[in-house]
Amino acid sequence: MSSVVPLIPENAPFSPEQRAWLNGFLAGVFSRATAPSVGGGVPPPRETLTPLTILFGSQTGTAENLAKKAAKEAGKRGFAPTVVDMAQATIASLAAEKNLLVITSTYGDGEPPDNAKALHGALAAASDSQLSALRYSVCSLGDTNYTLFCQAGKDFDARLEKLGATRVSPRVDCDLDYETPHTKWLDAALNALGSEVGRVIPNAPSAPPALDSDSTETGYSKKNPFPAPVLTVRNLNAPGSAKEVNHVEFSLAGSGLAYEAGDALGVIPHNCPALVADVLAALGCDGEEPVPAPDGTTTNLRHALTAHYDLSKPAPALLELCTLVPAGAPGTPAALAPHHVIDALLASHAKPSPTAFIAALKKVQPRLYSISSSPKAHAGQVHLTVGAVRYEKNSRARKGVCSTFLAERALAHGTAGVFVHSNNAFRPPASGDTPMIMVGPGTGIAPFRAFLHERAATGAKGKNWLLFGDQRAATDFLYREELTALQQSGLLTRLDLAFSRDQAEKIYVQQRMTEAAAELWSWLEAGAHFYVCGDATRMAKDVDAALHQVVETAGKKSPAEAAAYVQSLKTVKRYQRDVY
Ligand code: NDP
Repeated sequence: MSSVVPLIPENAPFSPEQRAWLNGFLAGVFSRATAPSVGGGVPPPRETLTPLTILFGSQTGTAENLAKKAAKEAGKRGFAPTVVDMAQATIASLAAEKNLLVITSTYGDGEPPDNAKALHGALAAASDSQLSALRYSVCSLGDTNYTLFCQAGKDFDARLEKLGATRVSPRVDCDLDYETPHTKWLDAALNALGSEVGRVIPNAPSAPPALDSDSTETGYSKKNPFPAPVLTVRNLNAPGSAKEVNHVEFSLAGSGLAYEAGDALGVIPHNCPALVADVLAALGCDGEEPVPAPDGTTTNLRHALTAHYDLSKPAPALLELCTLVPAGAPGTPAALAPHHVIDALLASHAKPSPTAFIAALKKVQPRLYSISSSPKAHAGQVHLTVGAVRYEKNSRARKGVCSTFLAERALAHGTAGVFVHSNNAFRPPASGDTPMIMVGPGTGIAPFRAFLHERAATGAKGKNWLLFGDQRAATDFLYREELTALQQSGLLTRLDLAFSRDQAEKIYVQQRMTEAAAELWSWLEAGAHFYVCGDATRMAKDVDAALHQVVETAGKKSPAEAAAYVQSLKTVKRYQRDVY
């Protein structure tokens, strides 16, 4: 029996936690109301449900979206779930809980997301068994391409245990393809938490729930992307630039897809035909060979390699098939590990059959890009700002899969599969009067173009300060005309530029921050939100250090006081980062 569970609208006057609880409660009520027998259609009062806290640590919104979906599922299974942002949790608040699910991502060098940092640190510093009444399970999200895979989730799991909490179900570490492992983890964790209190949960589904954190009510989702017409692909750099950044516009007309400034767009790439031809040649195939597609249907090898499978970093199964030493195995220098699938094929004498070869490949993964448009300014469209990745390795020209699909072929192809990835952790201030400081060098400009367009479209009166940088003013001043016009109109109150290679000494955005320390401090004291977007490994760290320095010098604070001040900005969501 199917039932339509009502959802509290995103714009209803509830906090995210209240909304998640209400959604979970409604899901529980409706699953019982439509069930054939047990429970007689009467929802149990909340006090008879098992309380459950679902804590999320989220940088790009995935963990937060999964936490909300988990609450919905828990609501159907006899729990009264509360979704809690880690920034709002303390050891004391956890000590008062009984049942806990933790869903957290990891980014950069094994770091916890910004909203998880304070709790992560507090758990590490605590020593006694303060959490002995707590039963928990952790789901961590990560990317196996990074050395410290899922480190933040591993830390939370170990630290909760160290403080006396009981792990009722094992941690699951999810790679980019997180849906299935996450769903299995949730099923196991809810069963473990439910059974340990001796409750018989009415109407518990017999199969794991189907979750898709990027789905919308329209039906288009990560699993079912919308084939969005590609309207424009325009290079934003002038001739002679060392960079290639493209402005890409898609139509969302008729899709029902909605997004907000700050969200990301998932794009499903197609592989380069020249690379597919090289792979076919290495296999000794002509491309017409029938092979299974990931959905179980049959397609031909050329189409499967173009649209369905990943030809970048080879999976261990492929290295085994090619009888190569696994990449990263002890004693194998990283330089000798095959960089891409084609390298593994060329280094091997094995000629796997098309079906065996396909079975050893990973499925194509969507790429997420920060959206650079506001739906209030460009109704029915979504825009991206994408840097094309091109480099050479082992005498072979290499291309970023999705960035060059967009740069070279998306327009001719006509459409690209897209879905909206919402990110509540990165939003313009709720009030149009709140000042915004935006630090976005390079492609980091993307969401700030959206924020500025949004403020222009809504007539928001708050002050706006943008710090942008790139290599050279003459070739790399992305959106120069638009930004100049926004400045002239008065919407962009202040624009600071840092062109790193226009002079002998490098100048970066953080230098502009410290030069303007007094003004930056006065904006912060006036309640400004501080945003950073772009490179995570170097830029965002240096900008963070510069922010501490500004608070110390202009705010006349000690390093410890400045650190507490910056942490408090994070806690109240006035310091938000979209870094990659
Ligand atoms: P970059 O961040 O590479 O460059 C923008 C400006 O920032 C340049 O002027 C650069 O100077 C400067 N810069 C370099 N180091 C620092 C620092 N420590 N602090 C402040 N500024 C600094 O811009 P991109 O938009 O090209 O790339 C942004 C990030 O996105 C990078 O991490 C890049 O690897 C990644 N990327 C990923 C893509 C993908 O996955 N498809 C595509 C494109 C980019 P200079 O270079 O002169 O030192």
